[in-house]
Amino acid sequence: MIGSRKLYVKSFGCQMNVYDSQRMADTLAPEGYVETTAPEDADLIILNTCHIREKAAEKVYSELGRMRGLKETAAADGRNLLIGVAGCVAQAEGDEIIRRAPAVDIVVGSQNYHRLPQLIARAEREGRVVDTEFPIDDKFDHLAAPSRAATRARGVTAFVTVQEGCDKFCSFCVVPYTRGAETSRPVDKIVAEVERLADAGVREITLIGQNVNAYHGKGADGRTWPLSRLLERLARAAGIERLRYTTSHPLDMGDDLIAAHRDLPALMPQLHLPVQSGSDRILAAMNRRHTRADYVGVVSRLRKARPDMALTSDFIVGFPGETEDDFAATLSLVDEIGYAGAFSFKYSPRPGTPGAEMDDQPDEAKKSDRLQHLQQVIDRNQATFNRGCLGRILSVLFERPGRHRGQIVGRSPYLQPVQIEAPLALIGEIGAVTIMEIASNSLFGALAQEPALAAAGA
Ligand code: SAM
Ligand code: SF4
Repeated sequence: MIGSRKLYVKSFGCQMNVYDSQRMADTLAPEGYVETTAPEDADLIILNTCHIREKAAEKVYSELGRMRGLKETAAADGRNLLIGVAGCVAQAEGDEIIRRAPAVDIVVGSQNYHRLPQLIARAEREGRVVDTEFPIDDKFDHLAAPSRAATRARGVTAFVTVQEGCDKFCSFCVVPYTRGAETSRPVDKIVAEVERLADAGVREITLIGQNVNAYHGKGADGRTWPLSRLLERLARAAGIERLRYTTSHPLDMGDDLIAAHRDLPALMPQLHLPVQSGSDRILAAMNRRHTRADYVGVVSRLRKARPDMALTSDFIVGFPGETEDDFAATLSLVDEIGYAGAFSFKYSPRPGTPGAEMDDQPDEAKKSDRLQHLQQVIDRNQATFNRGCLGRILSVLFERPGRHRGQIVGRSPYLQPVQIEAPLALIGEIGAVTIMEIASNSLFGALAQEPALAAAGA
């Protein structure tokens, strides 16, 4: 035990990093580290980084510039502030980070953060350390569980990583290189983690993985379980009212998983199913290994199983060779599916990926134009989806106080934020809410019935 020290962790990028950041804090808690939201008070700062696009990686370096100032101020006060870089930039760039940002003391890859206590001790003893090897041992076996109080403080919804890495090798993507090969956690470890979360008051679990629907973990019966079976098991965990999973690949959307959306009331009617492009030519160049028709087929099977399914996606514009016709195909796919929302990005060539070597890279101005146009079409889709909820009664899991006094905020089954006027005591409950107004993609409503009487589904 080192004694009480302050830890500031900043997460960049996806939900997997948010989860990893929490687990880093959990691992350092028994070492005496208490989390702070003020970096200037910290004894240890960890930036948990994202390498997916160039902009995300560059953000880390500008943040490190700021942290250097904090380190100098701390040193002037006689304090030794340690700075760590974790996550995918750490994994991809290793020693290069120390060269570019000399204020950094620790570089730790996304598979090694369970070793943070030893790395901190080494950095204090010997100076800078870099640990980005892919280890043989599984980090999850070495991570400390958070206290009940820490879990409770994080709220009534939680992420649980069930799968990591990716074997798909889309030609634009760094994930297979930064997160390594696809692995799945065993069922019993996931069930234990979910039961512990439920015991501390968590009501909704989102299973996460870079390719979560490729999950194939070892079950207690010694067999390999697919995601559908894991979901069915978790739906029986006492206290868990809602399940979600993200992010999925269209190729791994099997019939069993689609049927789970019909058969499991706890499985919310919402799915993030990235397609990236609506053009078969670009999908092939991206090595997505499915066509537009395959994707549309998956969506129609999902909607047959669960007609009110809300779909969201990711899109990339300006992939090498993307013509006006290819881009028009993407726009038409958005309208054909009718999304509840989507993320869209300008293609960012990533070193080491096949896409970065391709000819015919569209210029920045074209990418910006296309992105703007696509976002307008997505916004229109989202507004239509939200308008369809007006007047409906939706079940809402109340998560936290709202921005204004007397308001609380929750999520609908479709993951939309819903605000109502109600006492804070309802946080953690599921209530039936009549949707009366929509503003800036938030839904506003009023309780339609007492929460205890509300159903868990839509
Ligand atoms: N595994 C998921 C899938 O198959 O779609 C997504 C993983 S990635 C962390 C999240 C999103 O970032 C991708 O869906 C893609 O839209 C975007 N992305 C990945 N690489 C990119 C790149 N080089 N340039 C722009 N966007 C990128
Ligand atoms: Fe990246 Fe997702 Fe493709 Fe894997 S499936 S390479 S994580 S975009």
